[in-house]
Amino acid sequence: MANVNRRDFFKFVGAGGVGTGAGYLYAELVKRPQELLVPQVVPPEDYSPGLATWYNTVCNQCSGGCGISVRIREGEAKKIEGNPVHPVNQGRLCALGQSGLNALYNPDRLKTPLRNNNEGGFQGIGWEKAIDELAQKLNESRARGQSGRVQLLTGNIRGHVNELIGHFMEWVGVASHMQYDFTRPANLYEANQLTFGQSMLPYYDIRNTHYLLSFGADYLGTWLSPIHNSLGYGHLRQGQTEKRGTCIQVEPRMSLSGANADEWLPAVPGSEGSLALGIANVIANGHYTGADQVEWANALTTYTPSNIARLTGISEADIERIAEEFFTNASLAIAGGAATAGTEGVATHIAVNALNYLAGNVGQKGGVIFNSDPGFVQTSAFEHANYQQMITLAEKMRNNEVDILILHDTNPIFSMPSSSNFQEAMENVPLVVALSGFMDETTAMADLILPTDNYLESWGDDVPEPGVGFSVASISQPVVNRLYDTRPLGDILIDTARMMGAEVNWDSTEAYIQDVWSRIYAQQGGDPLGFDDFWRSALEAGVWGQEAASTNQGATVKPFPVNQLPGVSNKLEGDE
Ligand code: SF4
Repeated sequence: MANVNRRDFFKFVGAGGVGTGAGYLYAELVKRPQELLVPQVVPPEDYSPGLATWYNTVCNQCSGGCGISVRIREGEAKKIEGNPVHPVNQGRLCALGQSGLNALYNPDRLKTPLRNNNEGGFQGIGWEKAIDELAQKLNESRARGQSGRVQLLTGNIRGHVNELIGHFMEWVGVASHMQYDFTRPANLYEANQLTFGQSMLPYYDIRNTHYLLSFGADYLGTWLSPIHNSLGYGHLRQGQTEKRGTCIQVEPRMSLSGANADEWLPAVPGSEGSLALGIANVIANGHYTGADQVEWANALTTYTPSNIARLTGISEADIERIAEEFFTNASLAIAGGAATAGTEGVATHIAVNALNYLAGNVGQKGGVIFNSDPGFVQTSAFEHANYQQMITLAEKMRNNEVDILILHDTNPIFSMPSSSNFQEAMENVPLVVALSGFMDETTAMADLILPTDNYLESWGDDVPEPGVGFSVASISQPVVNRLYDTRPLGDILIDTARMMGAEVNWDSTEAYIQDVWSRIYAQQGGDPLGFDDFWRSALEAGVWGQEAASTNQGATVKPFPVNQLPGVSNKLEGDE
């Protein structure tokens, strides 16, 4: 439990009992009246028709990690709002988050376990039979010593549910779990690992910067955590007393962020990384005074403003002016979208990291802050699959090297290009099991479908990434009774492992989540008798956090090594 000290932990619980301290578990900070402390999994005795209640949980519509409050009447979810005490979204919510009810009440949800009848359709089977069939096949594979031929493929899962998947793999001997999410900014992770030694999404402190230079990142639309970015943007524009922040947007197609910027620079598509290095060239030669100034100037020799102007379509005067403004203001450079999605995506991110390094923005208020690891969740044995790894998986399936494919919350047949022939490769797998909420393209290929709960019916927790500059964890709980004959992912894994004869200490996902939080509580020196009060308050607030004394207390990053500068192409088409 690194970086969470006992004093801060109890700050949220309060010396005289839950709710008497200050912090995210402070029930009185929740603006709406909360009549009940536990959800209506079992309808409470004092259930009052006509009385609205609100429950806090976590939005799962994208990876932003916003906290939500759901309004419940007569046991039905009526409206979703932002959780006002959640530091990611501070009571705000985007349209996608609002539409979570459409997913919950969608008539196309899978409602019962199904078995492929091999005649182009599916027929319903009971849960016991379905779990028994999966357990039997896994047992047979293990008996043959071929558990390595079982592949687990899920979407992006964070928090302790992902840790529970790791336990499942140990219980049943599954060796490989890949998470495939084509929206994951893999290039940004890789660039940060190469330049700062941190494979994570840092906190981009838009709120406190005075000069925001974006290379294709539509931070008001879709980039990383758009609600949190929008809050930061509002403060940058109108909340800073000393000056109104400036926004420059570099992108060939005008996005929402471009339309709201002071200046929109339509650089030639694919030249954004070169433009960043052109600006870096001016800074390294005219402004930067660090000990490695000569190395930087030498490394950037070819990226002169005249060369870069010819390549990008942005004038020399603009390149020099932006370089000066970027260096002399409290600035922040970010990159994303199409600018970082191509073959030079990692190089473009590295070029933008170089700009932040040369301007002294790393670890500074208003700059790039690497979040401290809250240490809440143990790392489980999974890897994020990039495109090449998915191609390798398709190859293995085509070569009959995969016996059982277990899928959850990912749809590679839709998201992989058809040239990958992923569908054709999947046809070679003897048993495909889909733990899904909807009949999507990949689920329709399954032999066995085990329908999973909607996130508003599920237990879990989450450590948002990017964070907010200090350690935060959110707790999700079911806010309505389960609508159909579905189950949570964790319960399916626990039941399957038990059916295979594994010794499992937890009966359900709920029991597992509560157990890990009781351990976190105990590790902080909490009185065991006080856990129930702590847990009720945690569910009521929906979030627990440790606020750092200042915003520049992020993780330590290594200095940017100049030899990591990318070879972003600075040649025009037709050049030798
Ligand atoms: S930005 Fe926040 S509210 Fe919107 S979909 Fe993502 S997590 Fe949900």
